[in-house]
This record gives sequence, C-alpha cells and structure tokens, in this order.
Amino acid sequence: MKLSEEKIFSDSQIQYLISQNDYSSAADYLFNSQLKSWSLMKKNYAVLKNVQTKSFWFEGMKLKVQFNPERIISASAKVDKSSISNRACFLCTDNLPESQKGILIRNDFIMLCNPYPIFPQHFTIALLDHKQQLISKYFGEFLEISKLLSPNYTLIYNGPACGASAPDHLHFQAGIKQSIPIENDIQQMKNDYGQIVQEDEFIKTTFINDGLRKLIFIESIHQSLLEKSFSKIFQEFENISSAAPEPLMNLLCTYDKEFGWNVVIFLRRKHRPECFYKDDPDKIIISPAAVDLGGLIITPREEDFIRIDEELLKKILKEVSLDQNTFSILAEKIKVRLS
Ligand SMILES: [Zn+2]
Repeated sequence: MKLSEEKIFSDSQIQYLISQNDYSSAADYLFNSQLKSWSLMKKNYAVLKNVQTKSFWFEGMKLKVQFNPERIISASAKVDKSSISNRACFLCTDNLPESQKGILIRNDFIMLCNPYPIFPQHFTIALLDHKQQLISKYFGEFLEISKLLSPNYTLIYNGPACGASAPDHLHFQAGIKQSIPIENDIQQMKNDYGQIVQEDEFIKTTFINDGLRKLIFIESIHQSLLEKSFSKIFQEFENISSAAPEPLMNLLCTYDKEFGWNVVIFLRRKHRPECFYKDDPDKIIISPAAVDLGGLIITPREEDFIRIDEELLKKILKEVSLDQNTFSILAEKIKVRLS
C-alpha cells in the first residue's frame, strides 16, 4: 500500500496520544484540528447543531428521526457495479480532498473525519488498500478498532449491498457513543424479546425480534470467542441467503473495559424499501443502514421528515429486516452450531 505523508495528520500531541494507545483522545484531537482547517467540514458540523429531529416510542424503545439535507448524497448514492466502477473512489487516499488528513490505526487503516455528519463527531475508518467491503474477512479488525476507540466511540459496519456508500473499499464508521437509541435500549430489548442461543460464563448470544427489527446481540470479553461465534453465524446466514457478495447485515459495536464487547448484528432482507423507488408524492427517501436500524433514522428531504410517522417507520424497518420465518429457522440452526 502506498500512502503519501501529507495525508497523515501528525504533530507531537497526536504522536504522544497514539504512543499511549489513546486513540479515543487522538480522534477527538484530529476532529478539532480538522474543524479549524477544513471549511466544508466546519460548515456542515455547524449546520448539524441546528438539525431538526422528532422522536417516537415503541413499547419503551426509542426511534429518532433526523432531517439532514447533507446526507442526500449518501442516501441516494448509486451503488450498482457500473456506477461504482465509473467513479473515483473517495476513500482511496490519493483522492481525498486537499484539506482532509487522517491518523493511522494499526498501520493498515486511516481514520478520517466525515464531512457529511450524522453525529457531533463522525469518522470513517478506511483500509489503506482498495479492497472490497466484506465483514467475514475483517471482523477481527472491527473488534480491535472498536476497542482502540473506546471509551468514547461506537463502531459501525454497513454491508456492501445494504448501506455502504463505498462497497468497493473496506471501511467502518465511528460516532460518539450513545448517539444511537438502541445503545440505550438493547439490554431491555434482550430481556423483553430475546431468545438466548448461546450462554456460558464467557459469551452470550441472543436473537431479538422487537416487532420492528431482527437482530443478534453478542456479549463477550473474549475476542477469539466472539470471532468464532460470528464466523458460525455468518456461515449459517450465508447458507440461507441469496445475496451477494455477502448476506445482508449491518453491525454496531462498543467496547467496555469491564464488560468487553457488545455487538449488534442487524439481519436484512433488502437494502432500500419500496417507497424509495416510487415517484412523488409516494416517494420517501430513507436508505436504511446500521444507524437507521439502530433507531436514528435519517431523512435528507424535508417533505419526508414532515410526513414520516410511527406507522411508516414501522413499515419501513420491518420491510428491510429479515422475515420472521427465516429469522426463526436461522435461530434454530445457530443454536445447534453454537452449542
Ligand atoms: Zn478506494
């Protein structure tokens, strides 16, 4: 991999923080430095401060809708093969805007500020090499980076066919912890709607259907056990899935020194809901990915923000989530594999 020095943000303070393995503070420092030197980023984070939101509750679970016009590029991105192969990859370091710089993580990833934010601090963590977005090859890195970025950030993965706007370049995102409602709700959801498929003193895996979404929640402090369980879940999902290049999933991950990792795997049946492809006035531009499934739904158009209500939200989340029957079959199969 080649990487020009000028793309690396490095001063004595960053070098010190990284030498202490304090990537959380390094990210915060990078963010504030880029905010001063990059006018597009400064403008878009200022706009985010005044963004309109509205909230709904479903039996104790929160869904928050954010009207965010800057996200129209990402929400309506053409991610078919020919569109992707005809554009310059915006995650390859050669193509980054002049003002954008990042910090190296593990020497094979670069952490960059996202200039079109959903969160008060929003990052993209891209592999330096231009390689396809595939979680099965990089789940270990996903866990490691979430640990490096704790305690302040949540790590996000969107599958190449269900939310990633660069399906051809492996990347994660990170946002300030507790920005996504499910981070608060997950333990309650587990108690109310969970079916435990694996449990011992080292790891716990729960299938959750809350009536809106279908997800798997894994808790463990042992990276190798998490990787083993994830690999089995992935294989079983792949066996019953016709999606390419991998079964449709979005991931959220946090790490805590005392309790270890919390991994949420949203299982998907399709990328975008039918209303996305309709003509106005029936059209609604919502392109659900990990953050939306986590309960922070982004509407880039004002008419959609105004129109969206509990019924529409419920319909859209259910429509893009795995169907009940497949979810139950998968739970049975995985229970056998993990026992
Ligand atoms: Zn690339």
